[in-house]
Amino acid sequence: MTKEFPKTPRNQVRRIPHRGRYDKATIYPIIDEALICHVGFALDGQSYLIPTLHARQEDRILLHGAKGNRMLKHLQSGGEVCIAITLVDGLVLARSVFHHSINYRSVVLFGRGESIEGKEEKLAAMEIVTEQILRGRWQEARQPNQKELDVTSIVAVTIESASAKVRTGPPIDEEEDYTLPVWAGVLPIRPAVGNPEKDLRLREGLPVSPSVMNYSRRGR
Ligand SMILES: Cc1cc2nc3c(=O)[nH]c(=O)nc-3n(C[C@H](O)[C@H](O)[C@H](O)COP(=O)(O)OP(=O)(O)OC[C@H]3O[C@@H](n4cnc5c(N)ncnc54)[C@H](O)[C@@H]3O)c2cc1C
Repeated sequence: MTKEFPKTPRNQVRRIPHRGRYDKATIYPIIDEALICHVGFALDGQSYLIPTLHARQEDRILLHGAKGNRMLKHLQSGGEVCIAITLVDGLVLARSVFHHSINYRSVVLFGRGESIEGKEEKLAAMEIVTEQILRGRWQEARQPNQKELDVTSIVAVTIESASAKVRTGPPIDEEEDYTLPVWAGVLPIRPAVGNPEKDLRLREGLPVSPSVMNYSRRGR
């Protein structure tokens, strides 16, 4: 397994190239920390961008959904996609409007799909996707039955090429603006989970599940 994706015209970060990264040690934790991704593909000359859940299994991205889902059908037939993943870390507030920015970690990756078939393979993939959303949930909830497996498509996108772009740190202002009486700095933005809200039809006397009490996901 190589540790870095080769830089090519397709994945090379052009603007502010020093923020570009091509190593899996940077790229994979960003993929794992994100709850959702956006999958881009073109059909008959029209571009589409679809938000969806994802999970990484080594060098593959697993996606799942209802049979008949257009994006999944495209991937099942070996179609190409571009997937974008974004984590927002803070607002970068400069002294000038022009230099306002955002601290982020993002990934753009390219690959082709293949269908995951077979009961054991599908169950294994669904476990990875479920555990990506909430660690420990697979063992707590009822697992998919044959009927549910039959109406679910699961695809794997092998990552052929990828890049990350990472911005950290304070604003970068024009030298003459540093004396302006304008507050400048970073306003950190962190994802937060609230208190669990129980389903109105919850069976009497059930405590909140350990997976919910100890909320954690891969990469976090
Ligand atoms: C939350 C967020 C907000 C942003 N806001 C702005 C904004 O307001 N204005 C702006 O100009 N830019 C913004 N960017 C940066 C933007 O994503 C592009 O990097 C930027 O448009 C420069 O593109 P380019 O022309 O250099 O590269 P392109 O020619 O568009 O891309 C070439 C290749 O570089 C890689 N690449 C480009 N951008 C990224 C990325 N963000 N992450 C991973 N790989 C990447 C991809 O592999 C891509 O195929 C933002 C990024 C994020 C994550």
